[in-house]
Amino acid sequence: MLDNAAHTSIEALGEFGLIKHLTDGIEIRQKSTIKGVGDDAAVIETGDDCMLVTTDMLIEGVHFDLHYAPLKHLGYKAVTVNLSDICAMNGVPTQITVGIALSSKYTLDAVEELYAGMRLACEKFNVDLVGGDTCSSKIGMCISITALGRAKKEKIAYRSGAQNNDLICVSGDLGAAYMGLQVLEREKAVFKENPKIQPDLDGFDYILERQLKPEPRTDIVRILEESGVKPTSMIDISDGLASEILHICKASNKGCQLFEEKIPIDHLTAQTAENFSTMPITAALHGGEDYELLFTIPLSDYEKIQDKKEISVIGHITDQANTYYLVGKGGQVAEIKAQGFTAF
Ligand code: ADP
Ligand code: MG
Repeated sequence: MLDNAAHTSIEALGEFGLIKHLTDGIEIRQKSTIKGVGDDAAVIETGDDCMLVTTDMLIEGVHFDLHYAPLKHLGYKAVTVNLSDICAMNGVPTQITVGIALSSKYTLDAVEELYAGMRLACEKFNVDLVGGDTCSSKIGMCISITALGRAKKEKIAYRSGAQNNDLICVSGDLGAAYMGLQVLEREKAVFKENPKIQPDLDGFDYILERQLKPEPRTDIVRILEESGVKPTSMIDISDGLASEILHICKASNKGCQLFEEKIPIDHLTAQTAENFSTMPITAALHGGEDYELLFTIPLSDYEKIQDKKEISVIGHITDQANTYYLVGKGGQVAEIKAQGFTAF
């Protein structure tokens, strides 16, 4: 315990500091627990396969705002962000359990909508909803989902496995979910000012979908398997590229060099960023909620992924621990720092 724990605010620790503080020194007592706290999911040996377990919570007013998040989308997202953590271990999601706390402001219709979204995600990703818990809440809604998955022990990709000279790869494109959120926030502000003005969301479909209805990259896990590539390390991008590459580098005791021109950013994301006077690269590095996969592969596997349009090579791992560089489009070098979302 900290000497002055009674006086230390959790805000000062930050999310990661708090997790570290609370979980430091937790003993693993079961031989079957292969990995406890510290990766996208825990890994438990169960015979030939391993079971993967992960929990993520969504809190009203912190992670979602019902002014603009339709409940069906919210249910879908609550499931898919959890499935994303299973994918991030190079695993296949299999089951979920769902805990919800609801205040009396919600009608049966509303909760049915929420569940329609969850059911849709389960159907789409071939996952069974096998249990949960329901209780009341004084204010707002809280959804806590636990996802289970499986993977062969030798196929599991941890954050800690990156090797010198490995290629750093990312799926899809980055920054879109953040720019989608900016558009939603702007329209909410306009609506609050004058409820007669209808939100103007035309033309923003892609980035709005990326914010409201993220997809777990089960397809990337499959593509890697089919291509005979086992990532040396992997994480999903919930807090922005910068934060996640630092997690991989720190867990692997390595450094990295990323190239700005290689970082995939959709045209609409870039255009919207410019309209908001944000640099597109800032949205990609620090925006978060893209739920793409960030992973490393041996240089010798490059040919196996080079023509996969869903995968971009954005840099490489270096042996220089604690040095995290981004080479800009003009060749200038900047240090990568994490500024992703923190809950506190
Ligand atoms: P992710 O963004 O992949 O969901 P988090 O940053 O939420 O991961 O969590 C990092 C690690 O810390 C995970 O292994 C998670 O299981 C663990 N963790 C988070 N909160 C707690 C907690 N309150 N108690 C124990 N372990 C936790
Ligand atoms: Mg994760």
